[in-house]
Amino acid sequence: MSSDCLFCRIAAGEIPGDIVYEDDELLAFNDISPQAPHHVLVIPKAHVGTVNDLSVEHAELVGRLVLRAQAIAGDRGIQDSGYRLILNCNAHGGQTVFHLHLHLLGGRQLMALG
Ligand code: 5GP
Ligand code: ZN
Repeated sequence: MSSDCLFCRIAAGEIPGDIVYEDDELLAFNDISPQAPHHVLVIPKAHVGTVNDLSVEHAELVGRLVLRAQAIAGDRGIQDSGYRLILNCNAHGGQTVFHLHLHLLGGRQLMALG
């Protein structure tokens, strides 16, 4: 837990989040500025700054992050229409919050990446 990290503070319950899923390891909440009808962020509760901080020890965690996003997409009935999972890393990747988070975006046709 990092007291100056926004998502650590949401995970700790210090800042309210619109939480859609929680277990011992993961938290999922609606993005405050949704870019699609469904825009959920799935995070590990333990602080990881960026994708660059991941190592083989995180392999199962990353797998569960993706599977949780898949499950949320299923709960919302968008598994067949489709969705996008995004991990932004550092400046060129567009990362603005430096606590690892997987974006789940769906509910409309998303544009090609560029
Ligand atoms: P990034 O650009 O780092 O990949 O994504 C950060 C995301 O966090 C953005 O989509 C932004 O809208 C979202 N965000 C920033 N601050 C908050 C907040 O306080 N609460 C929630 N729920 N989302 C936030
Ligand atoms: Zn954090």
